[in-house]
Formats: sequence, structure tokens, C-alpha cells
Amino acid sequence: MNKVLIIGAGGVGGVVVHKCAQVPEVFNEIVLASRTLAKCAKIKSELSRPIEIAQVDADKTSEVVELIKRYQPTLLINTALPYQDLTIMDACLATGIDYLDTANYEPPDEARFCYKWQWDYQERFRERGIMALLGCGFDPGVTNIFCAYAQKMLFDEIQTIDILDANAGDHGHPFATNFNPEINIREVTAPGRYFENGNWVETKPLSIHQTFDFPAIGPKKAYLMYHEELESLAKNIKGLQRARFWMTFSDNYLKHLEVLGNVGMTRIDPVEFEGHQIVPLQFLKALLPEPSSLGPVTKGKTCIGCLIDGIKDGRPRKIFIYNVCDHQECYREVGSQAISYTTGVPAMIGAMLMLNGVWRGKGVFNVEELDPTPFMEKLMIHGLPWQVLEL
Ligand code: NDP
Repeated sequence: MNKVLIIGAGGVGGVVVHKCAQVPEVFNEIVLASRTLAKCAKIKSELSRPIEIAQVDADKTSEVVELIKRYQPTLLINTALPYQDLTIMDACLATGIDYLDTANYEPPDEARFCYKWQWDYQERFRERGIMALLGCGFDPGVTNIFCAYAQKMLFDEIQTIDILDANAGDHGHPFATNFNPEINIREVTAPGRYFENGNWVETKPLSIHQTFDFPAIGPKKAYLMYHEELESLAKNIKGLQRARFWMTFSDNYLKHLEVLGNVGMTRIDPVEFEGHQIVPLQFLKALLPEPSSLGPVTKGKTCIGCLIDGIKDGRPRKIFIYNVCDHQECYREVGSQAISYTTGVPAMIGAMLMLNGVWRGKGVFNVEELDPTPFMEKLMIHGLPWQVLEL
């Protein structure tokens, strides 16, 4: 009997719950817990099968341990924020259950995400005989699996990888982010970074861009950014010479971001305001639309994939392996826009493979360390079909 505990009832968590609920033969029982119980209740009311809900502050390991002891799940899916990754992993260690997340740990007071903190759990998870699967969303997540699949099936040697993330969706708001605003803005305003010939090259935030012609979307300007999958791909794809990550932004988004940055609203250090300490970016988050509220209003498509260069049978080969997702179709299916959808579906698939014993291991894993074939098959069935374009 499989019981899954999902923590975090936001945009992504909502999709994970909907998608797990569609596969009752794997996810026999579902528990959704989050900081705000009303958000769990809302998601529960959208479903046609019963789930249990609970309130938890996942910043406190003791509360998560208590929650796990109460519901006795087989696996925990973390769709709260990166800040909670370590407290939740500690709770999994204390209770001996498997863990899965979609974003790597980031300390609240420093906009610096890296895998080191979570990779440091390797020995403890191995000794406890449990598995942690890190970064099982779309990017990171499916993009890593595309690379692993390319390595296994399409290339003898991969030389360069460019991950391209395009969102041609329009939500009609002057400014909104399609996943958690605080995490999104911290990521976008950080310096760019890419991997080349064994070294990391740092660039000024959003200072390098290129226009790519995306399937189903057309030409779009994309900006070089640092993104967490680069760190694990540089480690796990042997012989890789260069890895970069590009994301599209509208001129309107960038204009707002520049003004907000100029006036100090994207700062993450506390400032004194009328006797209170407030973090400007957290205040800004409170003003912006919640990602989970964008579903009904977002139109258009996303296209995310990997442009991969290398050698096959002694000849150069270049491919683009990608998925196109339609915001309105996602909304019709699970009441969410495509960014939450493309993150939540892979989290459900990763959980399914772990629960079925197809992806098994003791310790801490990035998704590209596991066999990509069963995951690629499930993507086709569960709403994220992919294609390979020969270039
Ligand atoms: P949201 O802000 O919509 O949801 C986050 C949820 O976590 C909220 O319900 C929030 O509760 C809850 N939460 C926050 N802190 C705590 C806490 N201490 N205890 C319990 N619950 C808490 O974010 P998204 O759904 O957009 O993003 C979720 C995660 O997915 C993030 O880590 C994000 O980085 C990741 N992500 C990954 C992607 C990928 O492709 N790999 C793409 C997009 C997102 P409350 O509502 O009360 O604040």
C-alpha cells in the first residue's frame, strides 16, 4: 500500500496532487500538508477522490517528523520552497522514508543555490537505506533526463549542451512570475554562470542574450543564466565541454524587474520600516499575483528543451530534444498554468518510478544518474510528450 505525503500547496503542489490522484493504482493514498491549511482544502475540493490534508511548518524538522509519524507515508514529495529542503530531508532521515524535490536548497539570507548542502546527505541516506531524488521538475528534472537519454540513445559523445527555456505565455498582468516570485526573482537577478572546459565562467546578470527559433513558438530572445541543473550535469555527463542555460523574458518583464531592482524592491536583506524588519523582496511577493492564480488567465505555449552537440558513429550530430506545453490545455486538465504543470508532472513520474521500484537506490541522486528510458516513456503518457529535432 503506497501512501505519498506532499508538502507545499502552491502552484506546483496542486499539480502534483492532481496528477497523483489520476494514478490511484500507484498512489493509493495521498496526504497534502502545507503552511496554510486553507490552500490544501482548496486543492482537495477540486479532486474527485478523497485525500487527507494537514497543516505543517516545514521549517521545523520536529513538525515534519510528527506529521510523518501521524500519516506513515512511503514517500515524501517536497513542493514547498528550497528553504525547506534540508529540514524536510532531516525529517526523512529521522523516520526512514524516501524523499523527492524539484529545487535545490538555498539559504534564505543568501541568493546562492547549489547542490553541496544536499549532496552532503549522501552517506547518511545511504546508511539509513533510503533514497533522495533531487531536482525532479522540468528544469531541473526533465532537462537532465533529456541529456541522460541523449547520452544513452543518441550520442557516443556529448560535447555541448544548451538548455533553452521559452515561455510564450501571456497572463495579462503588467508583472507576475509563473513560479514563486521570491525564488524566481532571486534566480533571475543573480549573476549568470556557465560551464566550459572544466571551469565555471561568471557573467553579469542578464548581460548575454541570443535569439533562438523555438518549435511552436518562433524566434525569441533568450538570456544566459545560471541554473542548478548545470552543476549536476557538469558532474554526471562525462566529457562535457560546455553547458549553458538560456531563458526567455519579455521586454516588459525585464523593464519591471529593472525598475524594481533600482528602487531596492528586490533586496533580500532586512530593512527597518516603521519599527519592523522587512525583507523588500518578501514584501514584493505579497503584492504580486500567486503563481497558482495565473491558471485561468494564461494563454500561449512553453517550449523547453536541450540543444545538444556531439558525435555519433564518428560523425558530428546536433539535436534539439524538447517538449511544447499549452497553458490553456494544462488549465483544462488540472486548473493550472504550464509552468506549474511542467514541474508537477515530472515530480509525480519520479515518485511513481520510485514507488514501483523502477528507480531504486540508497543515497542521494540527481535524476540523470538513473535510467532515463522509463521516465521518457511516462512523459509521453502523462501529459508531457517530447520530440527530437535533428539539426
Ligand atoms: P508557491 O509559492 O506557489 O508554493 C509554495 C508552497 O509552499 C506554498 O503553498 C507555501 O505555503 C508552502 N510553504 C512555504 N513555506 C512553507 C513552510 N515553511 N512549511 C510548509 N509549507 C510551506 O511556489 P511554486 O509552487 O511555484 O514552487 C514550488 C517549488 O517548485 C519551489 O521550490 C520552486 O523553486 C520549484 N520549482 C521548480 C521548477 C522546476 O522546473 N524544477 C519550476 C518551478 C518551480 P503558503 O502558501 O502558506 O506560503
